[in-house]
Amino acid sequence: MVVVMNVGADEAQIEAVIDKLNSLGFDVHRSTGVNRSVLGAVGVKPEFDTRRVAVLDGVSEVFRVTEPYKFASRSWVEMDTEITVGDVTIGGNEVVVMAGPCSVEDEDQIHKTAEFVAAQGATILRGGAFKPRSSPYSFQGLGSAGLKMLRDAADAHGLHVITELMEVGHLDEVVSVADIVQVGARNMQNFPLLKELGKVDRPVFLKRGLSATVEEWIMSAEYVMAHGNPYVILCERGIRTFEPSTRNTLDLSAVPVVKSKSHLPVFVDPSHGVGIRNKVVPLARAAVAVGADGLMIEVHPNPDGALSDGPQSLEFDQFVDLMKQIRLIAGVLGRTVAPERISA
Ligand code: PEP
Ligand code: MN
Repeated sequence: MVVVMNVGADEAQIEAVIDKLNSLGFDVHRSTGVNRSVLGAVGVKPEFDTRRVAVLDGVSEVFRVTEPYKFASRSWVEMDTEITVGDVTIGGNEVVVMAGPCSVEDEDQIHKTAEFVAAQGATILRGGAFKPRSSPYSFQGLGSAGLKMLRDAADAHGLHVITELMEVGHLDEVVSVADIVQVGARNMQNFPLLKELGKVDRPVFLKRGLSATVEEWIMSAEYVMAHGNPYVILCERGIRTFEPSTRNTLDLSAVPVVKSKSHLPVFVDPSHGVGIRNKVVPLARAAVAVGADGLMIEVHPNPDGALSDGPQSLEFDQFVDLMKQIRLIAGVLGRTVAPERISA
C-alpha cells in the first residue's frame, strides 16, 4: 500500500501516520520527495480497509500497489531515476553509449578499442574479464589480469568501466575496478549475487534473463534495491524465442513497457540481441527511437579474430556509422549523445 501525503503535510503529521501504520502491523518505508512524502507500507492483507489510513491528518491518497515489487515501481518513485557515474548521467537526457569488446583479450586490443570508442563519443568502456560461456572449452576471460587492462585502458582514454561479475567470490575484486557492475543474463536470477550487490556502492547493470518476463526482471532489480542499493540499470539484451534467424529476439517493446512500470533507466544491447554484426546498427537506431536511455555495443579492432562474440562485434567503421545514426535519432527526440572527442 502506498500512502501519499499532502504537499503541505508537516513532519508531525507524517510521523503520526508512520506510527499508526506501525501499530497496524505494517513495515513502513519513507520516500521524501521534493514536493511531498510518500510512505510505502508493506504487509497489507486483502481485507484491510485502506480508509483507516486515508482519514488520517495530512494524507492525500492511499492506494494498493498491485505489482509485487515496490522500490523499482513507478508508483513508489514517480520521476525517472538518474544515476551519476563520474561526469556521466545515466537516465537523463543524454543517450549514454557503453562500448568495447565482448572480452578483454590483451593490452593492445583493449587500448585500441578504448581510444577509438572514446573518440566517437562513448563514455563507458565495456569488456568482460570473467566470462559466462556456454562451453567449458571456450575462452573464459583473462580474470584479474583482464580487469587491470580494462581499468588502465579506460583511464588512459577518460572512460568509465563496466564489467561483469559472475560470482560472489569475485565481488571485492570487481568492485575495486568497475564503475558499474554488470550482471549477465544468465545470472539475472542468481539471488545470492543480487543480494550482495545490494550492499555495494556501485550501480548494477542488470541484463534481462534469456527467458525472463518483464516482471521477473524487475523483481531481480527489486532484490538489489531491497538490500540497499537503489542504483539499478535494466538492460534488454534479447530473449529466446522460436525464431532462429537471429541469435535472440530483441524485445524492444520491453523498453516502453518497463518505463511505464519502473522509474529505473533502461538500456538496450542490440549486439547480443541480434547476434549478427550488420543488424546491430538498425536495431541501435530503433532502440534509441523507442526510448532507451543508452546502448551497450560490442566493438572489436578485428572482430573475425575475437575470442568471444566476434560475429556480433562491430568493425570500427560500423561503430562510426552507429554513432552518427543514433545522434540523428536522439536529436529528433530532443536528446543528446556525448560529443566526439576526435583529436586533431
Ligand atoms: C556480455 O555482455 O558479453 C554478455 C555475456 O552478455 P549477456 O549476459 O547479455 O549474454
Ligand atoms: Mn558478449
